[in-house]
Amino acid sequence: MTVIQNPELKELDRKILDFYTLSERYLYNSNNQYGRQIYKAQLTELLKEAERIEPSSEFDMLISRNILSNLVLNDLVIDYFTDPNFSLSVEAFFTIIAGKGAWEYLEQKVRNPLDELEWKYNEGIQKRASLRISQFTDEAKEAAKLHLPNIKKVVLEYGKVKGYLPEDFDINTLFIPPKEGQENSSWQSATHTLNLASYCFEFLNLNSRIVAKPGYAYVVAFHEIIGHAANDVSSRCLPNSIRFEETNSITPTKPIVEGIANYGEEEGFKFLRENKDELGITEEEIELIEFNAALGHYSLCQSMYCALIKDKELRDKDFDGYKHILELTNSPITARNFKLHFDQGFVNKWRTFGHTLGKFHYQRMVDRVKQKFGQDYLEKNKKDFHEATLKGVWSWVVYPEAVCYFLKK
Ligand SMILES: [Zn+2]
Repeated sequence: MTVIQNPELKELDRKILDFYTLSERYLYNSNNQYGRQIYKAQLTELLKEAERIEPSSEFDMLISRNILSNLVLNDLVIDYFTDPNFSLSVEAFFTIIAGKGAWEYLEQKVRNPLDELEWKYNEGIQKRASLRISQFTDEAKEAAKLHLPNIKKVVLEYGKVKGYLPEDFDINTLFIPPKEGQENSSWQSATHTLNLASYCFEFLNLNSRIVAKPGYAYVVAFHEIIGHAANDVSSRCLPNSIRFEETNSITPTKPIVEGIANYGEEEGFKFLRENKDELGITEEEIELIEFNAALGHYSLCQSMYCALIKDKELRDKDFDGYKHILELTNSPITARNFKLHFDQGFVNKWRTFGHTLGKFHYQRMVDRVKQKFGQDYLEKNKKDFHEATLKGVWSWVVYPEAVCYFLKK
């Protein structure tokens, strides 16, 4: 059963999306005191309502806990940025908004840099550095666009065969040319559009012919379509507060949205390996793309952690961030870079909260399901399990229980 029973909860579920949107707009402008008053007044009303409701069913309970968790954690982030008397330590704050073990997860990453992988990656991409051409040329754009029809065909076929996407599902594809080189790829729910940016391709001049190597573009398409779009369509018949588009901007849901997409990305790597001959991609190329993705994730974790340590330094005058990073990494270069060149705080990094902690929270959900249903169950019911993981955009606090709920049904 995926319909809300309690009439008051139904009403709250209807109203909450507007507030999520308002909260998102305010977060981007959180220094505005007038906006803060409007935000806080609406929050107080909604919290009162949410706390008063007595859920009538197990599903109502999940929906109600999810709304409360979104409101409370999102508000804590806002207070951390805007309340001059905020009293929690940085670690305590982060553990509440990101979950037990999240601080240590980041710390572990910083303690163990991926030196070997980084070295191999840098050596690997050197090999054809002399053949590479600029993504800013018209020839590069034309070469990339040639791949879009096949990327679309392949990713839709895969999603339908696996049962992640409905049979009649279709998408538009757009190539996003570079303005500065780092334009985002994305899934646009309202227009069913996959936006693939130019960084997904490697542009080479091979015997005077400009070609775009599409390996990474396939992986990104899997992230966007097998991850985000599948999550989106699987959530369309569910209550408003767990649908895809509006809710995925609330801080506590970000790691779940990106955790699901990361799983899609892993399927993308498997797909590349199984079809490398047809796609004209070598194992060495796939490995380099994989290294690059791992290094990207490491860098997100490292900069999130350094931002939190920078905040700690600002808020606690006895704390020496340089010493802390030096002890952790044993690297004077890393510690020096942190002290002299790194000037960001969590306020600059919260937007990457989902990409940084997606894997962490996806794994937390997998562990909970194994604990509840047993390891064998997951192996034998892969399709049911994956379908359950795609239903709804939940706060990380409720997601593991929500997946268990759908599996039980
Ligand atoms: Zn994503």
